[in-house]
Amino acid sequence: MSKSAKKGEETVVCVNCGTRLNTLYIQYSPGNIRLMKCDNCKAVADPYIECEFMIILIDLILHKPKAYRHLLYNMLSFKSEDIKHFTSHLQPQTSGTIWKSALLFLLLDAIRVFLLKRFNDDYGNSFLSMPKCREVFLDVLLGNIVFIVVLLLGTRFFVNCSLPITSYLEILLAVFVSSFFKVYLVAMMVWEFPSAVLYIIEMFVLSSNAVAFRVSTQQEAIRCISICLSAHAAKFLVDYWLLSLLPSSSR
Ligand SMILES: [Zn+2]
Repeated sequence: MSKSAKKGEETVVCVNCGTRLNTLYIQYSPGNIRLMKCDNCKAVADPYIECEFMIILIDLILHKPKAYRHLLYNMLSFKSEDIKHFTSHLQPQTSGTIWKSALLFLLLDAIRVFLLKRFNDDYGNSFLSMPKCREVFLDVLLGNIVFIVVLLLGTRFFVNCSLPITSYLEILLAVFVSSFFKVYLVAMMVWEFPSAVLYIIEMFVLSSNAVAFRVSTQQEAIRCISICLSAHAAKFLVDYWLLSLLPSSSR
């Protein structure tokens, strides 16, 4: 049984239709559970509870919305105490899931920026020095500020004008978590890959972001793809603008 199964008292969703439920299963004794059916679609609400994580990971790679709903709502629990504390007391330290995923997202993006600069012969095969770290930090900071602003503005004006702040946090968390494909960039730091691989990974991240965005907003696919594509395109433009603007210390 997956360790991601949620307790009955938390708000969870049916992975088939997205309907909010109070519980996903009833536990009679240790190892003896009964999966609940959704009142709306009459199917088992979350069959992933009984799956190993590898099965879930494969379905995430295959971009199945069911797997994304399981990951984002039943595994990470958007409506858990994390977000409630974040919005009611504005104490960032209590919002562990969001901050951890944001930090990992930014760290992996720093690797992407470094690889991008390396492929543009700015850095060659040298290690990062302090000026280079500053350049990468600036790129990551500006690129992601633009990325998040475009994403949130797209959500504000093209999805729903009356979304509460928790919905924006849900969307951000969905985008951070669904960027897990960037983990493959770590391999590119160690082994030699053609630069095209970097763009292929970015395409996977974009499509994964669009699926997660769609799952968290329940909007049409074309609208979700357009918003995510705009945010990624804006970030790439910032990357290339900074690449042409900043003199590299290694030149
Ligand atoms: Zn359902």
